[in-house]
Amino acid sequence: VPTVGVLALQGDVREHLRVLESCGAGTAVVRRPEELDRVDGLVIPGGESTTMWRLARTFDLLEPLRKRVEQGMPTYGSCAGMIMLADRIVDGAAGQETIGGIDMLVRRNAFGRQVDSFESDVVMTGLDAPFHAVFIRAPWVESVGGEAEVLGRAATGDSAGRIVAVRQGHLFATSFHPELTGDPRIHEYFLAMVKGSS
Ligand code: GLN
Repeated sequence: VPTVGVLALQGDVREHLRVLESCGAGTAVVRRPEELDRVDGLVIPGGESTTMWRLARTFDLLEPLRKRVEQGMPTYGSCAGMIMLADRIVDGAAGQETIGGIDMLVRRNAFGRQVDSFESDVVMTGLDAPFHAVFIRAPWVESVGGEAEVLGRAATGDSAGRIVAVRQGHLFATSFHPELTGDPRIHEYFLAMVKGSS
């Protein structure tokens, strides 16, 4: 059984731990470099990417995170976690850095300019039925580079067609919060990535 860590600097950590456990994964919270060394995969939760970035620097985690991601650790980022995995961001705070790894341009608070939070069905490659997704001041993906694959787009509402799920090899990101809706398919998908890599 692989151990999946949840980056626990800030954000909705507990909800991810709960879904991962219900999917049969071993779990661990990650706040320190030694804890990062012990996990087979990592979830970066939603929350506030500027706070997460500052805390990652304060706790000396930013470089270890970049290193593990570069070395191939399967990593899934939701919402703020998607921002953390983006190579390029728009509307970040002054000086805001990311871990990076996915060749994509992500716009922070993109949906939030219209309405703070909303729900939409997302049609996802690899899932046979749409995923009912919750978005909270969510980013969207403006564009992806050659290595990154678009896996999902919002299917309903004003934002229909916007890119909200992307994968690049061992890295996976969604704009939405799958830990809040009781549908385990996104976590199952990520767990299969973790199992496939070991
Ligand atoms: N707006 C947040 C940010 O910039 C993301 C919101 C979320 O994770 N729910 O990090």
